[in-house]
Amino acid sequence: MSSIERRKVANNPQLHEMVENYLDRMQPESDEAPSEQARYRARIKQLLVERDAVIVAHYYTHREIQALAEESGGLVSDSLEMARFGHQHRASTLMVAGVKFMGETAKILTPDKTVLMPTLEATCSLDIGCPVEEFSAFCDQHPDRTVVVYANTSAAVKARADWVVTSSIAVDVVDYLDSLGHKILWAPDKYLGSYVQQKTGADMLMWDGSCIVHEEFKTRGLLDLKQVYPEAAILVHPESPEAVTELADVVGSTSQLIEAARTLPNKQMIVATDEGIFYKMGQMAPDKQLIIAPTAGVGATCRSCANCPWMGMNHLKNLMESLESGRNEIEVDPELGRRAMIPLQRMLNFREEQLAAV
Ligand code: SF4
Repeated sequence: MSSIERRKVANNPQLHEMVENYLDRMQPESDEAPSEQARYRARIKQLLVERDAVIVAHYYTHREIQALAEESGGLVSDSLEMARFGHQHRASTLMVAGVKFMGETAKILTPDKTVLMPTLEATCSLDIGCPVEEFSAFCDQHPDRTVVVYANTSAAVKARADWVVTSSIAVDVVDYLDSLGHKILWAPDKYLGSYVQQKTGADMLMWDGSCIVHEEFKTRGLLDLKQVYPEAAILVHPESPEAVTELADVVGSTSQLIEAARTLPNKQMIVATDEGIFYKMGQMAPDKQLIIAPTAGVGATCRSCANCPWMGMNHLKNLMESLESGRNEIEVDPELGRRAMIPLQRMLNFREEQLAAV
């Protein structure tokens, strides 16, 4: 911070505490010691070769997992690219570091491959908040609507859908369906749904779900932080509440936010998404200062503090143990997988057509 910025902060003790707190935890670390990490890394690389495996990691995982995925020929990306990469890669085993729906998606798309995860406990509040029985009943009440679900759902919910989308493609898919005259039933994230509705004007009926990480970002804190960094661009993931997206210079998926950090002229970025993204964002925009957006609890009271508790369950140690033992394999009932594949494949085909048109 410049001296003027520091003075402004110093004059406001609460703001001072908040900023210091954020600067102290710019990047989530796992609690594995460096010497242990070096041992795990070496062993994992050996196991990847032995098992003909590749690591597919999400931007929100710990930085050492993202680094290892890159070093070993795997991928670090958002859930759409993770799905595409795993589908197209020649490896017979996919090690998916992320949350369970990502492993399930990989298995649905590539049923012949072995899909392992560091832990099967890593889930997602959106997935938990959309149980298939209730969701199916909701769909049955609205048979005239095209069912579009976010990727952050169980295989069973996907199997009930007409389309699956990720945040990077949701606006384009709904816009396309709207142009064909479809009315949409959207699940599970109400904030992403209302953002998509705002962008497309589509007729959308929403399921009432939310992400516990993104709904913690608060406008008051964001405005305070913007006073400290008046030249900063505000980058917001669309799983955040509307009052927060309204303050954004750019609203987008994880990949779109990284691209914005790289290309915007601003030297500072206030970022409202899981701070695991700073690993890749820092790589792609090394000359920018990245500042995590404020969450509900300035102290220790927030539920997530911009760190997904489930993404944080992926560690080098449990990744290594899963590769060693073959434990934590993702299984999807073949019939369920066949039905879930249809809306997923629609999304991938849509994406391929978009890429071919560029
Ligand atoms: S950050 Fe939110 S949407 Fe992503 S996995 Fe965690 S709880 Fe789910």
